[in-house]
Amino acid sequence: MEEIPLSRPDITDVEKQLVMDVLDSGRLSIGPVVEEFEALVARRAGCRHAVACSSGTAGLHMALVALGIGPGDEVITTPFSFVASANCILYVGATPVFVDIEPQSLNMDPAKLEAAITPRTRAILAVEAFGNPTHMDEYRRIAARHEIPLVEDCCEALGATWRGVPAGSFGRVGVFGFYPNKQITTGEGGMIVTDDDQLADICRSLRNQGRAPGATYGGARSGSWLAHERLGYNYRLSEVAAAIGVGQMRRFDEIAEMRDRVAGTYMRHLMDRAALVLPTVDPSTRQSWFIFVVRLTEEYTGDERKRIIEGMRRHDIGCAAYFPCIHLQPYFREQFGFEPGCFPVAESVCHRTIALPFHNRLTAREIDMVVQTLDLMITREDLKRT
Ligand SMILES: *Cc1c(COP(=O)(O)O)cnc(C)c1O
Repeated sequence: MEEIPLSRPDITDVEKQLVMDVLDSGRLSIGPVVEEFEALVARRAGCRHAVACSSGTAGLHMALVALGIGPGDEVITTPFSFVASANCILYVGATPVFVDIEPQSLNMDPAKLEAAITPRTRAILAVEAFGNPTHMDEYRRIAARHEIPLVEDCCEALGATWRGVPAGSFGRVGVFGFYPNKQITTGEGGMIVTDDDQLADICRSLRNQGRAPGATYGGARSGSWLAHERLGYNYRLSEVAAAIGVGQMRRFDEIAEMRDRVAGTYMRHLMDRAALVLPTVDPSTRQSWFIFVVRLTEEYTGDERKRIIEGMRRHDIGCAAYFPCIHLQPYFREQFGFEPGCFPVAESVCHRTIALPFHNRLTAREIDMVVQTLDLMITREDLKRT
């Protein structure tokens, strides 16, 4: 039997042709294709500026550097996310302050967030978990009230909207990621989006070794190539990678439709399962499906979840426990003394999630097989108890 992978990028002749064009052009870095990719993402996110970079993590790092966040500062974030959303706070020497999530959207609980703000809070770093923008407007209001910036880690949310407001435009700055399991991919890559001219310029400089924005190697403006205005990084995205991104963005509506169809099929199949909590999508949001994550109900233990995932994998079905809690990762525990029990909602969710295979081209037959196997594994755990 063929394996059904957890995720799979969707690359067509459109992307391949654009990559070939770049390879033939002789210009492999800092060129027009990166600029085109930036313009396409800026438009989709409803932002004036987009700055392409080498990964979502690099984008988050630069966003915090550009905001001047450093040692002694606190940044509020969620424990239920991919680890990069908290790591970037450590990179700049600041202290992550975690806020527990609410169990429907799986995003930070706005009431708990407000209570976590101290005089040392310098930013709120919010994540649209699995592409769900619920509460982003509330975070934005809280940030404005306390005169601190909202940083939007929208790495999982390209194309999502809340009452028509696109993900990426809630924060003072937003960051998308283009790893192969995201809505669109460039292999590796990321994109900072903002309406703030100065912030965009600082990020353009930071990604290019601290050079003035617009500096190019060997070009008419090459006088600035060896002038470094600030401590920067090499966080650039290549023209080759950007070409994949341009192709993916040109196909974005089609991609979003395919993902909606797969998620809708899962929803219909799994609707009446007593053992499962399905993703909840608030009527005012348009979720952009990053992955499809179901959750076992409270009756199930972490060990039962583990056996269910192992059983699915034995049947060649890719499954994963997205996400383990960040505060319980070994180095967070060691550095900050977090223990189980600190953030009970997030921990309860973390022990029960199962990410099912999810990609653009998943067929109805494959979804059937995933659902049947999941039913079988859950039934087996139920039978063990009686
Ligand atoms: C994917 C992702 C990132 C960035 O990942 P990269 O692999 O560095 O592109 C950051 N935050 C979240 C929440 C993500 O899902």
